[in-house]
Amino acid sequence: MSASSYINAILESIKIRANEPVFLQAATEVLKSLEPILSAEKKYQEHAILEQLIIPEKIHTFRVIYCDDKGKANVNLGYRVQFSSALGPYKGGLRFHPSVNLDLLKFLGFEQIFKNSLTGLMMGGAKGGSDFDPKGKSEAEIMRFCQAFMLNLSKVIGATTDVPAGDIGVGGREIGYMFGMYKKLTGFYDGTLTGKGLNWGGSLARTEATGYGCVYFTDEMLKKAKQGLEGKVCAVSGSGNVAIYTIEKLYQMGAKPVTISDSNGFVYDKNGIDLELLKEIKEVKRGRVSDYAKARKDAVYTEAKAYKKGTNGVWSVPCDGAFPSATQNELNLEDIKTLYSNGCRFVSEGANMPSTLEAIDFMLSKKDFHFGPAKAANAGGVATSQLEMQQNSSMSQWSFEEVDKKLHKIMKNIFNNSYETAKEFKHAGNLVVGSNIAGFKKVADAMIDHGYI
Ligand code: NDP
Repeated sequence: MSASSYINAILESIKIRANEPVFLQAATEVLKSLEPILSAEKKYQEHAILEQLIIPEKIHTFRVIYCDDKGKANVNLGYRVQFSSALGPYKGGLRFHPSVNLDLLKFLGFEQIFKNSLTGLMMGGAKGGSDFDPKGKSEAEIMRFCQAFMLNLSKVIGATTDVPAGDIGVGGREIGYMFGMYKKLTGFYDGTLTGKGLNWGGSLARTEATGYGCVYFTDEMLKKAKQGLEGKVCAVSGSGNVAIYTIEKLYQMGAKPVTISDSNGFVYDKNGIDLELLKEIKEVKRGRVSDYAKARKDAVYTEAKAYKKGTNGVWSVPCDGAFPSATQNELNLEDIKTLYSNGCRFVSEGANMPSTLEAIDFMLSKKDFHFGPAKAANAGGVATSQLEMQQNSSMSQWSFEEVDKKLHKIMKNIFNNSYETAKEFKHAGNLVVGSNIAGFKKVADAMIDHGYI
């Protein structure tokens, strides 16, 4: 069978098995870009690698019940999707958000396989979480939920089997409550969770890693085109972990980030986002971007309900480059056309799959545009999680500079590997093809070596 027929047959099998549009979108992006390597090397088809890869090794689904402050029972669904252990223990974050379902976690877990492979470190791919909504919950409710979630999750994770981390709705506070419960249930004080607090096993620079890594990657991408970040005006979406540390590193690189957003609206601050104010509002007060606008003269807040239908308002701001750092499918074809006509010439994805397939096609079709896809550009977070695991297993703690230096080197390697692989497969400059093929090859070759298991 030709490579393209093979790919189409696999995508068709996904459609037949279940109605999972988000997973299908992620699989389409990856599989379509593998055509050059599947044409060149028949062994992957002979060993049914794609057939295996699109099915998680294991899916754990469980009921989570916790007591709210009024003494009432609350019930949520919990999941852990253990997608691939070809390259190491399962690794990937936990998301707490009302939109969490199996479709969403399969997309995230699938992406994670190739992203983790690209880092060059030993990690399999997984993702998990719950449809629990942390918004509006008290501190005690968050703690009780995390403990109840861990009661089930602890049965399927471990320092050498599966090591979860944070994601949307899961930051240092939640990791702390989950780690405490894990320790109590199992008696182990080990590196089973990453993103831990600094005085109990966490790694310096882990908090900053995804945002910093995304900017390091962008810097490499622009340098290759004989450009740089210095003086560039940047639009950033989101206002959580990834957005905040993207903004911090952009300033360090001489760029000017001018936007932030959340699900209620976005802020345009033409003078540049005030990083200290943003950290105070988001990390200390756990507030909203509207609070930022109230506290900052000249910052303009636009509510999401005022966005032009079917678009994301944050992308209407003129900029040189954009860093989608909130959530999946937050940048569509119309958004990218607006960005492009306003002068934007690069996008680096801090979030997972923030651009729709049509938006990606548009970016790749422009000769003067540079696109850093998520699985390469935002791999710094998981890479640093693995550095945390290394420190835990040797009972050591490295300095911030040491971890940051390793992160920087990993991001350079990811860029070079993606860039060179794209060139090797005759798609020079196409980092979607380059990163997907480079990530896939390592995983697929390991699967062949391991036999049919
Ligand atoms: P946080 O929970 O810290 O922040 C998420 C931000 O995105 C919030 O500002 C949130 O606003 C906003 N957001 C979420 N959903 C929507 C939506 N539907 N519309 C508009 N805004 C939304 O998460 P992170 O910063 O950790 O994660 C952001 C993205 O980066 C995710 O795609 C995640 O998978 C990805 N990522 C994260 C890594 C990490 O190390 N943390 C590593 C690699 C990727 P609101 O408060 O209104 O929900």
